[in-house]
Amino acid sequence: MNESLLRAVEDRREAVVTLTQDLIRFPTVNPPGEAYTPCAEFIGAYLRRLGFQTQLIRGEGAPGDTDRFPRTNIVARREGRSPGATVHFNSHIDVVEEGHGWTVDPFAGVVKDGKVYGRGACDMKGGLAASIIAVDAFIAVYPDFPGAIEISGTVDEESGGFGGVAHLAKQGFFSKPRVDHVIIPEPLNKDRICLGHRGVWWAEIETKGEIAHGSMPFLGDCAVRHMGAVMHAFEEELFPLLDSKQTEMPVVPEGARRSTMNINSVHGGQTEDYRPGLPSPNVPDSCRMTIDRRFLLEESLDEVKSEVVSILDRLTRDRDKFRYDIRDVMEVLPTMTERNAPVVTAIAEGIREIFGREPDYVISPGTYDQKHVARIGHLHDCIAYGPGILDLAHRPDEWVGIDDMVESAKVMAIGMDALLRGART
Ligand SMILES: [Zn+2]
Repeated sequence: MNESLLRAVEDRREAVVTLTQDLIRFPTVNPPGEAYTPCAEFIGAYLRRLGFQTQLIRGEGAPGDTDRFPRTNIVARREGRSPGATVHFNSHIDVVEEGHGWTVDPFAGVVKDGKVYGRGACDMKGGLAASIIAVDAFIAVYPDFPGAIEISGTVDEESGGFGGVAHLAKQGFFSKPRVDHVIIPEPLNKDRICLGHRGVWWAEIETKGEIAHGSMPFLGDCAVRHMGAVMHAFEEELFPLLDSKQTEMPVVPEGARRSTMNINSVHGGQTEDYRPGLPSPNVPDSCRMTIDRRFLLEESLDEVKSEVVSILDRLTRDRDKFRYDIRDVMEVLPTMTERNAPVVTAIAEGIREIFGREPDYVISPGTYDQKHVARIGHLHDCIAYGPGILDLAHRPDEWVGIDDMVESAKVMAIGMDALLRGART
């Protein structure tokens, strides 16, 4: 048990609360990507006081990047006294819109009953603050540590991370030799280690028809009816098939331990915004559906796509005048870090020491920035570990527990100690 390190974290209990409040007060709502620059600058100034070199890096040309809403990321690095490994803590600074149903001001950083409230408290400004005090405590106790420590605050995770971690990863910020171990303090609960996530295939399917007068539909061809046939086939064949595919990945919640697909939207015919308030007089010649298919380590992307395409091709053969287009919107392969990877065993050691039990190893049903670290950075020693209860993310009255932040900061400090100094308890 490393008493001095744990005491140093405990001494920063007030600091983690204040820091979380300060971060919540930047309304970094995405979309559109509000207040990214002042938030990144604030983090940079804070870390410079802890001896870090900082860099602001704009995700130039990324989706959503404009002069009004620049995608401003902050990367900070502090070199140790001698060569060694680099540990990187990556947090996203963007939050989702506050929505309705709040009983406190979502951007005031209200503290009540041992909790800090606010949009982003749990997802994931509390995690960012916890990692910063963990690093601060570690450096205070071991000013001569070997290797290097990095902390980044990145944008756009909630919208795919293209102007954030993906942009930085393309420039080598998430690759060896610069970085060896990455911890992403997403709110996965303080005693769980998230090893990765399922895969994603988003696609848009369009069925085609022929426009005609609505009183004489037989003169045209209704694209919405063709889409109805697609949905019918999905209900009859595809959903039962997906339901039957179980995974060995420890996905939580358990309902996500198999393949799933959401139909995100269906639009057919003229839309309301095209003819506000007026009825649509025509046989629709186009109907579009967006699907969000989440897949497993046991499935290949080709297999996932061909399940859908084979249904569409069969309808083309069997159904009169059926024509379709399909377009990929997003593809992310599933990823899972090995349980014996260095970053996993280091954080597991911290969880054992602080909570006196084995960690739970989990897989996230949805993706987060680990995808870019793995796919673009080719760095696989990466996990999500942080305070906060996942179910509170994106909800009204989101909060993060103060004890949870301090305890998870202790786990992070012990993990850092193991990775940088090779300390074993
Ligand atoms: Zn998040």
